[in-house]
Amino acid sequence: MNLNDFIMSNELPIRLGFFFGVFGLMALWELINPRRQLQTSKAIRWANNLGLVFLNSFIVRLVFPAAAVSMAVFAGEQNLGLFNYIDVPFWVAVLASVVVMDFFIWLQHVMVHAVPVLWRLHRVHHADLDFDVTTGARFHTLEILLSILIKFAVILLLGPPVVAVVVFEVVLNATAMFNHGNVRIPAGLDRLLRLIVVTPDMHRVHHSVEDDETNSNFGFNLPWWDRLFGTYRAQPRGGHEAMTIGIRTFRVDNWCSWLPGMLAIPFVGKVEDYAINRRQWEQTHEQLPTHSDLVDPRSRGRHHAGNRLS
Ligand SMILES: [Zn+2]
Ligand SMILES: [Zn+2]
Repeated sequence: MNLNDFIMSNELPIRLGFFFGVFGLMALWELINPRRQLQTSKAIRWANNLGLVFLNSFIVRLVFPAAAVSMAVFAGEQNLGLFNYIDVPFWVAVLASVVVMDFFIWLQHVMVHAVPVLWRLHRVHHADLDFDVTTGARFHTLEILLSILIKFAVILLLGPPVVAVVVFEVVLNATAMFNHGNVRIPAGLDRLLRLIVVTPDMHRVHHSVEDDETNSNFGFNLPWWDRLFGTYRAQPRGGHEAMTIGIRTFRVDNWCSWLPGMLAIPFVGKVEDYAINRRQWEQTHEQLPTHSDLVDPRSRGRHHAGNRLS
């Protein structure tokens, strides 16, 4: 039996094994050494967050009978995608595929924050009033379906080895549970880990109610994209214990912790100032340079409010 056949016939046990293994470890770690005190009932949050995960896996099987690995097998058979064209060593193709797929997940995450209608879907992940291992798997069904379509498209363009897709999905699943962990990691170790993986302290910044903080640290797996593209923020202003987690406009359990409310979140409320097309330059900010400033820098600061470059 070759590697692809082995993966195809054992995909489910491989995935479930890693899922329950990492989940159990993180849950235990959260019990022994929690980072923050939970705001809401753990029993209610866990039942509903995991209920959403269960519902999603059921609907995904219904809508997409073929999984990402079957897409990679298909791309291989049809000679589709970059790595089915260029001749590189197997391990290079595996490594590069995992890194490129992680980049697209990062890009997708930036996109669901930037595009107002997609942010409505992604709000379900952020509306959790606490941040723990179950937050890492809590996404609206429509966002899950969208990300599968994007993943299929990336696989068709990339033509990754089948094993790379499995490695990527298992690793991403594990790191998502790890970096949503309500766990305490010593600062020195956190700094080291951050060189290669997104840590809980790094991702917690992204779950802040503050707009500038939630628009930082989009990475789920590799921490490099945020540093490379300018969205990295080391720590939350308020500190990890005192910072407020969630979304300003969703603060009650009915919406944030119960499954029916979570499923309805994308369809309620108006577009808020958080949306990218609602942002305004506040008058109080420093004025942009005017034409005369650019010609003669000594004249900077002599202009009155309202005298802006237009
Ligand atoms: Zn996000
Ligand atoms: Zn998150």
